Amino acid sequence: KETLDQGLQKTKEGFLSKITKAIAGKSTVDEEVLDNLEDALVSADVGIDTTVKIIERIEQRVAKDKYLNTSELNKLLQQEIEAVLVDAPENNSYSFNTELPAKPFVILVVGVNGVGKTTTIGKLAYNFKKAGKSVLLGAADTFRAAAVDQLTIWSERVGVPIVKQAMGSDPASVAFDTVQSGLAKGAEVIIIDTAGRLHNKAHLMDELGKIRRVVQKLIPEAPHEALLVLDGSTGQNALEQAKHFTATTDVTALAITKLDGTAKGGVVLAIANQFKIPVKFIGMGEKMEDLLVFDKHEFVDSLFK
Ligand code: GDP
Repeated sequence: KETLDQGLQKTKEGFLSKITKAIAGKSTVDEEVLDNLEDALVSADVGIDTTVKIIERIEQRVAKDKYLNTSELNKLLQQEIEAVLVDAPENNSYSFNTELPAKPFVILVVGVNGVGKTTTIGKLAYNFKKAGKSVLLGAADTFRAAAVDQLTIWSERVGVPIVKQAMGSDPASVAFDTVQSGLAKGAEVIIIDTAGRLHNKAHLMDELGKIRRVVQKLIPEAPHEALLVLDGSTGQNALEQAKHFTATTDVTALAITKLDGTAKGGVVLAIANQFKIPVKFIGMGEKMEDLLVFDKHEFVDSLFK
């Protein structure tokens, strides 16, 4: 909770000061307040579509309740913001220390290079391990030597095994090896890193498709989670990447990184609303402790505190 409050500091300052300005000196909610609020949300990276949706819902409430003062507006805004955030499906609402929906639970991690994919995998491994679960990593980003090296460093740091092959080998073959080894070892969580090349969509689609197919030869329901990692500090750019990846592969959850130290945290709302994919994790720093399981109530609460 503290990590969240501290990490969101900049987003909060931007967000709250804009909202406060939007309603300053007003006792009731009129057209002008709503216009100001709309501008405030857009400039806080909430995105046009999501902002319009939130404003429309507030308008309806204002019309119904006739009279609404600005502190009621604040509460209403919190409720409506929470409402645009998607919940994880009930059968997949796990957290680090709860029972997982499957054993082994296979997480395929996708995302563009540089967004914090490797770090997020390291943090996931740390948190699952800390909660007493056995973890296995798979280095299926065989395209970049640095990716395998970085993941190896994380596996050593956290103390979990890693499956890897020579550079340039078939990513699907690494994924297959990883799952096979995980099954043999009785691993509870298997996390597979993938390449994040964006320049060639067809290639990426083929590669991810092939990884899925070979993994499914061993576990038909796997991957149980396809986690897309996005860099929250890039604001609207993260939206573009989400668009690209959701069109390329079946993404089931999002991890949004680097929300510490950015004022663009409002993009979490834009992404959740636009893609109807639950935000599952948020990255709040570079250390292994700095990954949180996303809780929309806590998040919104923290934004308004
Ligand atoms: P990858 O290329 O997507 O695997 O990215 P990396 O995991 O190597 O991360 C790129 C950089 O972002 C590294 O310097 C990480 O330490 C940093 N990073 C990752 N997640 C976070 C986060 O949540 N907050 C901050 N401040 N930095 C992060």
